[in-house]
Amino acid sequence: MYVWFRLSISTQCRLRGFNMSKYKMMTRWLTAGLVCISLFKGVVFADESTLNAWPPSAQRFLKDIRDEPQDVINAVQAELLQEQRTTYRAAYYAILSRAYSALVLPHKGLDRADKGLALVTESLHPWLYHNLAVAKAEALDNSGKPGEGKMLALSARNWAEEHNAKELLSYAMSVDGYLSLTLSATDDALATFQQGYTLSQSNDTLLQPGDFASMIALVYEYRHEPELALPYFQEAYDYYQANDIKLELANTIFGLGKANLDLGNRDTGLAQLKRSAELALEIGDLQGAAYSYQVMAQQLIDEGKLSSAEAFLTDALTIFEDADNRFMQINVLLSLNAIASQQSQFAYSLTLLDEAQALAEGEAFLPSKIAINERKAQLFATMDEFEKAYQLMLINTALKNRLNQEQNSQRLLELKTRFEVEQQEAQNALLREQNLRQQALLLNEQKLQRYIFAVVVLLLIICLLLAFLYIGGKRHQERLERLANEDELTGLMTRRKVLAQFEHHLQLAQRHDTPLTLALLDLDYFKKINDEHGHQTGDAVLKAFGELARNTFRRTDMLGRIGGEEFLFFFPHTDLSEAQTLLKRFSVACRDIPFTIDKPELNVSVSAGVTMLSDNQSAKVLMAQADEALYQAKSEGRDRLVCAP
Ligand code: GH3
Ligand code: MG
Ligand code: MG
Repeated sequence: MYVWFRLSISTQCRLRGFNMSKYKMMTRWLTAGLVCISLFKGVVFADESTLNAWPPSAQRFLKDIRDEPQDVINAVQAELLQEQRTTYRAAYYAILSRAYSALVLPHKGLDRADKGLALVTESLHPWLYHNLAVAKAEALDNSGKPGEGKMLALSARNWAEEHNAKELLSYAMSVDGYLSLTLSATDDALATFQQGYTLSQSNDTLLQPGDFASMIALVYEYRHEPELALPYFQEAYDYYQANDIKLELANTIFGLGKANLDLGNRDTGLAQLKRSAELALEIGDLQGAAYSYQVMAQQLIDEGKLSSAEAFLTDALTIFEDADNRFMQINVLLSLNAIASQQSQFAYSLTLLDEAQALAEGEAFLPSKIAINERKAQLFATMDEFEKAYQLMLINTALKNRLNQEQNSQRLLELKTRFEVEQQEAQNALLREQNLRQQALLLNEQKLQRYIFAVVVLLLIICLLLAFLYIGGKRHQERLERLANEDELTGLMTRRKVLAQFEHHLQLAQRHDTPLTLALLDLDYFKKINDEHGHQTGDAVLKAFGELARNTFRRTDMLGRIGGEEFLFFFPHTDLSEAQTLLKRFSVACRDIPFTIDKPELNVSVSAGVTMLSDNQSAKVLMAQADEALYQAKSEGRDRLVCAP
């Protein structure tokens, strides 16, 4: 509660004065507060980035920031001691930075954001990086370095916009808008807040249209355009009222009251300021009430109701003194000084100004110092102390120059960073385009490579297929040829083949006048073998006969089967006696066939008719001669060899 109280005091203290520093504080409070409000809704950044590294416990901490920022800081620091994962540590630093910003401790906020940023890279964890960057921008704004914060906020905005990270975008927009306001670039601030407003209208972002309305109203108020501020304050009022967000409600009613006073709606304005003060007191925000008192007193002074005004101002001064809110103490003292001046209490008036001057220490109080000096100069002039008045005017001129310089340098810095960001963006766009082009090239190349690979594979398959078909065809052809030329059962030449070979060799023998002998062979009583022992045994005999023939005769001898158990053998370059010897040896061997086929009870014998080319006979004639001899062998009792005459 203490922290909460302190927080509201420190944020509100400047919020009601409507000078630059007051806006800074308002920025702080609103951004920190609104982020927290949105976290109340349970919406976290988790769902908007693939690289979300938000630790699960972080959600609880983020929710608690608004109520107990110091407790959150303690808890997160304890987590950090144990946490090893880099991205989680970075996320915790982001939470710490926001909590410190909520406590209006911008230097600590800055330090924690930097610590988080040291752990992540823009390329690896862009979402986390830019969240930390916006937190840093917020801290920078609050520590009087809005120009530096601008760059970070703009980068984050660009990234979020490009990656459709709506949540981050609206957060970055709010911070960026406040940065612009701090830099007095009210057009920019207005444009940014209006963009945020539009964004929040069409998206369920953490910051709602009502929040952006209050930001827009602040810009108009800052520009002294109360008639434009009024409707936006009204919208914010409706939103905070409906959602029961009391502190913002009190602030908004204060804004309404002030705008109404500026517009000359005296009664409405005063009533609203009174209500704002009551509401502030209700939630323990004493300074909130004091702000209202100060503005109300100002109105009363204008109306000449000096004693009422003085009463309000005295109350306000006590509150601001208790809260050590120097800005507002100075403001109140200046108001009291105005009353004293009107009542011609010159000595008292001077005392008040001296008091105010003692409080205005440091660079941040430059505008206050100028205002005080102006009053003093007027006072001295009234008291006819022109020399003193002149000296003060001189001092003020120097101070004004310094203020101008400072504002200009801030503005310059901002312009410079804006230029740098734009340049960086252009560079990025160029790089992106180059990347895309390279990717496209690479993709095309890969496509081409895949295509070539596919074609090569296809060709290879086709080649293999063709080779396979060729080999298969060749084998098939060989098989067909073998079938046509080789008798399946005996392995000897077929009838067709052996007759063709015979024709051929006969011609050769005749042309070269070389000997050629022809024999017709027939197995004896083969029908009987079939009949008595079965067809299979007959086949076995024929097979054994073929094998024996192939083994017995020479490779140059031509052996063929021309009928069931009839054979034609011819022997090129062989005369009759030589052939006879061969055939006799063969027919003797045939008798052993029954043993080779395991049928010893069989009787296998061969009859043969033999003839030799003598004077250019035709194949037909030679065959007939051999056939005749064979017939003779059969009729002479078989199992013999007969030579044609
Ligand atoms: P011959 O001594 O007069 O030659 O008497 P044979 O029984 O051998 O002669 P024949 O011409 O009367 O009979 C031939 C038999 O050969 C008739 C047929 O059943 C048999 N035969 C023909 N081709 C085959 C065959 O491929 N396998 C078998 N197992 N028998 C066959
Ligand atoms: Mg026969
Ligand atoms: Mg026979």
